Amino acid sequence: MSTTSPTGERLPVALRTEALEQLLTERGLIDPKVMDGIITTYETNVGPLNGAKVVAKAWTDPNYRRRLLEDGTAAIKEMGFGGPMGQHIVVVENTPITHNVVVCTLCSCYPWPVLGLPPSWYKDPAYRSRVVKDPHSVLAEMGLELDDDVQIIVRDSTSEVRWLVLPERPAGTEHLTEEELVSLVTRDAMVGVAKVAAP
Ligand code: FE
Repeated sequence: MSTTSPTGERLPVALRTEALEQLLTERGLIDPKVMDGIITTYETNVGPLNGAKVVAKAWTDPNYRRRLLEDGTAAIKEMGFGGPMGQHIVVVENTPITHNVVVCTLCSCYPWPVLGLPPSWYKDPAYRSRVVKDPHSVLAEMGLELDDDVQIIVRDSTSEVRWLVLPERPAGTEHLTEEELVSLVTRDAMVGVAKVAAP
């Protein structure tokens, strides 16, 4: 099966994916019904809300925070989240002086059980190559201006290790409950391209 058009251009990803799915189905290697089920699950049921619950718990329970930073996968499983693309999640903490940002330079590895499916910018070759070389500029373009003296650590996700950022709890949220904190935590903050803002 060709993945180029008659004029030699690369066909769009959606078309190539469809062709691949058809081929795998014809050969009996996948069941399209199972595939649809997985996609629906991650599109509608599993999303950044899971990660937000993990973060809010870590903000309000020091023992949980310690377990989360020691063994992300196990602590996330305690909250009932796990499964494909989440077998080895490492959680790193952002502080006023150290900022972690996540990328997958090779493709689009991402911790599905806590964040759902990756956004399109995460899969963009420009983000993937530039954030490694010049994270300060890329983050600024995405709306996150960090002081020059903040150390930025770029975490490269792979199929073996998938990173999750534990963002800083914003000042002025001391009176909020865990549930109220959940609603503040965004996907972008857990990838490290944004901070969590106070309400
Ligand atoms: Fe990848």
